[in-house]
Amino acid sequence: MKLNILSINKEKDFYKVELENNPLYPDGKGGQLGDRGKIGDANIISTTKDYILIDKPLSIGEHDFIEDINWKKDISIQHSAEHLFASTILKELNLYIDSVTMGEEYSYLDIPKVVNETELNILENKVNEIISKHLEITEIITNIENLKNYETRTKLKVDIKDNIRLIKIGDYDIVPCGGYHVNNTSEIKIFKIINFEKIKGGKTRVYFLAGDRAFKYFNNLINIVKTANNQLSSQSFEINNKIEDLKNNIKSLKSENNSLKNEIIELKISNELNKKILLNNFNLIIIDKSVNNISPFIKKYSLNNYILISYENNNFTLFSDNFNCKLLFDTIKSKYTLKGGGNSNRINFSSNELNINYILNTLKELI
Ligand SMILES: [Zn+2]
Repeated sequence: MKLNILSINKEKDFYKVELENNPLYPDGKGGQLGDRGKIGDANIISTTKDYILIDKPLSIGEHDFIEDINWKKDISIQHSAEHLFASTILKELNLYIDSVTMGEEYSYLDIPKVVNETELNILENKVNEIISKHLEITEIITNIENLKNYETRTKLKVDIKDNIRLIKIGDYDIVPCGGYHVNNTSEIKIFKIINFEKIKGGKTRVYFLAGDRAFKYFNNLINIVKTANNQLSSQSFEINNKIEDLKNNIKSLKSENNSLKNEIIELKISNELNKKILLNNFNLIIIDKSVNNISPFIKKYSLNNYILISYENNNFTLFSDNFNCKLLFDTIKSKYTLKGGGNSNRINFSSNELNINYILNTLKELI
């Protein structure tokens, strides 16, 4: 097939092309993705009724169009599966679906009710049961007069009188639709719900795949499990236990690490106290480790009239019982950009520009 390019304009990374009598199926029509393929040596990225996006510049005039058959087949499979799913939801739950979104990776639809995993399993099994019945999917072209002879699942959404297209899946489903479909349910191969979530309005959004997309999804999961097994030296059925063990190990190591840290801080404080450094009347304690809580040390060493400065990386914390820590913070903040804050007994701040000597010198000026 030849396509005639009337105009072409660069748009971000792509080129917006206007075609003469655009024959391509547009994205979003009937809730499905449109045509893809090659025009000349450019790939079609997206399609609308009025223009298409391509990935390379092309000259004005006629170009060969080669349709992406695999893409079309995949779209037909996902879309046909959606017919079966929506029809099954109506039959099993007596509910009409709210909206459908057919994506490039997965598709989803909204059920106007909160449904649980068991209900979804029943729906999934039912759809797969229909797929395995090898039902023919046929197209019926009718007009508005004769439409009433068919018990369609949904009403006609567009205002047309003739050439109304119905898609019939055996005796299971019949619905007006303008999209692409497979010829037999066996081509869908498999239908798989991959996730669901409650969304506002008491609805459930259900994510699904069909055909080769589902197989790709399984293969990807198998690879993830294989990698996890290698990393954990486990068998698939042991993964959860192994992860639980790792989490418990981390927990106990963290707690051990914390008590070791506290022991170090305790030693450092005791060491500092032995030095008996006084700044005016304050006992000055400088710890090159981050201290989060000094209450246990106050008690243990009966600290009083103290200023304790702890620092690690670019973080500084100042504790004191009788010195207003905020004064130091405000003084430094008037000269440097500081992140942090606190109260008169404790302030915390970080800065890449400051070092402990600067903090000490500033403190000396304030006391
Ligand atoms: Zn359809």
